Parts: sequence; C-alpha cells; structure tokens
Amino acid sequence: MPADVASLASIVEHQRISVVKKQAVRDVKGLLDSKLIPPEQSEALDQVVRKFSVAITPHVLDTLALGDSPAIFKQFVPDAAELEETPEESSDPIGDQAHSPLPGIIHRYEDRLLLNVVQTCAVYCRYCFRREKVGSGSAGLTPAQLDAALDYIRQDKKLWEVILSGGDPLTLSPRRLSGILSQLRDMAHIGIVRFHTRLPTVAPDKIHDELIAALKQHPAVYLILHVNHPDELTPAVCEKLSLLADAGIPLLSQSVLLRDINDNADVLTRLFRKLLVNRVKPYYLHHGDLAKGTRHFRTSIEQGQALMKALRGPVSGLCQPHYVLDLPGGAGKVPIGPQYLTTTARNSHTIEDVSGCTHHYLDDCQP
Ligand SMILES: *Cc1c(COP(=O)(O)O)cnc(C)c1O
Ligand code: SF4
Repeated sequence: MPADVASLASIVEHQRISVVKKQAVRDVKGLLDSKLIPPEQSEALDQVVRKFSVAITPHVLDTLALGDSPAIFKQFVPDAAELEETPEESSDPIGDQAHSPLPGIIHRYEDRLLLNVVQTCAVYCRYCFRREKVGSGSAGLTPAQLDAALDYIRQDKKLWEVILSGGDPLTLSPRRLSGILSQLRDMAHIGIVRFHTRLPTVAPDKIHDELIAALKQHPAVYLILHVNHPDELTPAVCEKLSLLADAGIPLLSQSVLLRDINDNADVLTRLFRKLLVNRVKPYYLHHGDLAKGTRHFRTSIEQGQALMKALRGPVSGLCQPHYVLDLPGGAGKVPIGPQYLTTTARNSHTIEDVSGCTHHYLDDCQP
C-alpha cells in the first residue's frame, strides 16, 4: 500500500475508534464490544449489572486501551465475585440512613454534613460504599427537595462546613453548581464548602474553565479527589489538576485501600508522591467498607496498619494520609492506627520508633 494511502487508512481507523469511544460503556454489550470481558463471562456479569450499575468513561477506556493497567481494570470492570456476599456486609455499610433527617442530607457531626444532590457518577467503582444508593437511574434531588435541604443548612447555625458528595457532585452543570454555591456563600455561618469527587481522574475533559468559574462562586471551596492508583494520574488528568490548583482551589485526596490494586507500599508511595507533585495533599486512606459483594477488594486491618508503618519514616510526612475506618452503624470515621505508643504506667510510655526500636518516655506533666 502506498504511504499516503496507508496513512489515510490509519487516520480513518483512528477516527473510527475515537467515534466508537466517545460513549461510556454502561452494559455487558459495551463490555463485550470493547473487549474488556470474554463472551463466556457475559451471563454472570448480566446478573452483576442488574444489581450494581456499570459505567466506564471514554477517558478510562482510553487508559485501558493504551496498555496494561490491571489496577484500573479491576476498579471499574465488573466481576462475578460481586455476586458473593458475606454476613458482615450490608446495604448501608456506614449507617447513612440513621443520620438522614431529610432527602439529600446526611448529618452525622455537629459542624458539617453531606449534601448529596445527585446519586449518579461518571463511573461506578466496583467497591463503592454507596453502591445500593448510587447508580444510573437513581434520582437526584428535585428542586423542592434541594430548597428544603438548603433551608435546613441555613437554619442550623452550628454548621460550618457543607460537603457535596453523592453521587459525584461535579457532574452537576456549572449553572446548577454556581446556584448552590452562591446560596451557601450567603449563609454567614458556612465557612467552607467541600466537594468529594472522582471526576478529575475519570473524566478530565469535564474539568474546564466554566466549571472552575462556578466553583469560584464560593470563596473557600476545597476539592477532595477520589484516586487509588498512580496509573490514574495520566498526563490529561495532571493537566486539569494543575488548572484547579492554579485557580487557587486547595486539593486533597482520599483513597480506598484495595486488595491487589494498591495494597503495597511501593504503589502507595508512588501514588502519594505523584499526588503531591500535582499539588494534591493525601488526606484519607479508607479501609474498605462492608458494602455488598466487595470482599474481594478488602484487606485486613492488620495489613493496612503494616502498610502505613512501612511508609512512616522512609517517605515524606506530607505523603501520609490518615488511615480511617468508617464504623458500620453510623458512628463515623476513626483513625485505626498503627499505634506507636503503649502506656505502661500513668506517666510512663513505651514508644516504638520508625525503625522498630522501642524507647521509654517519662511524661513530666503527668503527676
Ligand atoms: C465522611 C463524612 C464526613 C467528613 O468527615 P471528615 O472526617 O471531616 O472528613 C462528614 N459527614 C459524613 C456523614 C461523612 O460520612
Ligand atoms: S465515585 Fe464514589 S459514589 Fe461514585 S461509584 Fe465511585 S465510590 Fe461510589
């Protein structure tokens, strides 16, 4: 084939692929068409998809097509193991229901609450802790319900922080976001607004100037990015993180400790360092919640503590998130170690240093 014909063919092929890839994959047929699963899995996965939504964005599909990233694959491509449940698992693993005084509000702590305006996401993480609430077709708040939720926030003067979560709040249109943020800005007792979002890593194309302008409607907006593996920080993603940081929006991250995805010290170190290089401060490492059909993603708490221990010392203090468990039943998030201090008497402690040696510490402020 002459060179120009060959290159024309390659352009046509490329365009065909990019047209095909414009759409997110949302069902078993899409998984088959994208060659993400072999045909013999389709029956089992049909059952999974009936229980838990699937969505894989074009950006994630591109990353998967580029090469081998099992860590990204496992987070978004459904697996028959999701059909297995353990007795400990629950449809409300962190007890949200007990703290929901009205639709869209989860109010567990005195000075802050969650405002969940949407129940949909750009992707559906297979280990999602709200997987039985969140999903394609789940209705977000109606305008009247949103007004009621904002009134609730307006009236409770002990509130200081509003956390937009969901669902993914950055999937709201810039117009709706700026409407909500300008109302929150007018409430004098609300100091900061926080967003919990996965959008920057899974759909960087959706992070643009118009969205950032909407976020700037409130003077103190913080973004907490959900990201679990350094492979997720592609050049396109890093470019958008830079855009957000340059806009003056403080960026933090939360990650879930996931078996065979990020449960080793090397991957976590690379993740946290890459985040910091992109001006994102690691905030939380969550122990996996007891959501239904997610046991294959969890590690033991002992393993999680050992990983945190491996990082403390050799790796910059800025790279250390808090390792937390959100207690089943709704009692909230608690740091779960590791522990370095053992109290041996009222004023006497044994402390393990980062290389494992123990030291005795006498507390001269304790009588
Ligand atoms: C996680 C969570 C928060 C935020 O907790 P922080 O420890 O402040 O990050 C607030 N409210 C609810 C209901 C939560 O689940
Ligand atoms: S982005 Fe968050 S809420 Fe949405 S599916 Fe993933 S874990 Fe669940």
